[in-house]
Amino acid sequence: MSPTTLEVQSQAQAASQVSPDAIAEFNQYVMNTYARFPIALDRGEGCRVWDSKGKEYLDFVAGIATCTLGHAHPAMIKAVTDQIQTLHHASNLFYFAAQGQLAKWLVQNSCADKAFFCNSGAEANEGAIKLARKYAHTKLGITDPLILTANASFHGRTLATVTATGQPKYHKNFAPLVSGFDYIPYNDIAALEVAVQKYEGRLCAIMLEPLQGEGGVNPGDRAYFARIREICDEKKILLIIDEVQVGMGRSGMLWGYENLGIQPDIFTSAKGLGGGIPIGAMMCKAHCDVFEPGDHASTFGGNPFACTVALSVCHTMVDDNLIANARERGQQLRTGLQAICDRYPQHIASVRGWGLIDGLVLQESSNIQARDVVAAGIEHGLLLVPAGVKVVRFVPPLIVSATEIDQALAIVEQAIASFAS
Ligand SMILES: *Cc1c(COP(=O)(O)O)cnc(C)c1O
Repeated sequence: MSPTTLEVQSQAQAASQVSPDAIAEFNQYVMNTYARFPIALDRGEGCRVWDSKGKEYLDFVAGIATCTLGHAHPAMIKAVTDQIQTLHHASNLFYFAAQGQLAKWLVQNSCADKAFFCNSGAEANEGAIKLARKYAHTKLGITDPLILTANASFHGRTLATVTATGQPKYHKNFAPLVSGFDYIPYNDIAALEVAVQKYEGRLCAIMLEPLQGEGGVNPGDRAYFARIREICDEKKILLIIDEVQVGMGRSGMLWGYENLGIQPDIFTSAKGLGGGIPIGAMMCKAHCDVFEPGDHASTFGGNPFACTVALSVCHTMVDDNLIANARERGQQLRTGLQAICDRYPQHIASVRGWGLIDGLVLQESSNIQARDVVAAGIEHGLLLVPAGVKVVRFVPPLIVSATEIDQALAIVEQAIASFAS
């Protein structure tokens, strides 16, 4: 006999004291799409989380650069509680204030004129790809439009965005991919010029991250982006910037593109926008705002709940000077990591990043992989996330304190020392 709802609930309560059995149960019922680290997280506060055994960790993953305000932030608790009691979802058949207010905040604080809301980074990028294609058909008279993206990029896991992602490992076994994409090496002006020539008459957009996050915390080059902007203006094609990971203050500027001295025609945001509540946005300048009713939609996109929470993140970021904090704490973090790099040159090649998205780049010749450093961090009470095989990524909440940065650095030093001995 199958259990009643209540019985299921009480089982879930019992299981919240997670044992190895709970992980076994999880693995039995959840599809095996992630190589998870073997701890079950129970609760969080600020920049700290606790696992089911009560062990405390400094959280420098922040839900992969999403928990802008850390965990259990009072502003988010208030926004969530107020909105769930008022109106949490209404559909885009109707108007409601929160979506307009969030769009206004985003437009007033960026180069964009309009915003479209959805639920994730991939969905925001899908919207950008569709907008660029409609622009190609209706404004440029291109019937077979092509978008250039970069090698080692990451744009999401839907079929179009995984095609846009310039990493063969994510394409394997998913053919046929979506047509109309090709790839160029990142930060390489000569290769860019060749590709632009090659696709003359078909090229409608160039889509890039301002700093490649998952591809290895690799910052864009100003001269490269300046040349791209020139080419886009010359050829009337669109520059799409994927701000899903870097945007919303993480780079030490509100938008990653501000670090590059250029403005995109279209840009996307998601991860940090809702502070961990699912929301994505695709924003564009007026000249490429070619969508009309019926062209694109999302049932949950921009609902009152997600928009109100995102607004609480935006306002707190301003009120508490979190972008300046991202710059200062980021500088502190990179200085500390560089000192560790100098002490262990056999294992660490370099340190790079902007604001609070930073990478510790391991030596190709070292036997340590990013996953090993992450595992050692877990052992010593610090959560980190790999960005590829040889880069350890640091993306703490933007509220992180100087003391917490120092604590994290001490743990990283311990972890690297344990490999060096
Ligand atoms: C995470 C990420 C995405 C995909 O976002 P999802 O919310 O997982 O769909 C897209 N682009 C970049 C740059 C990302 O870091």
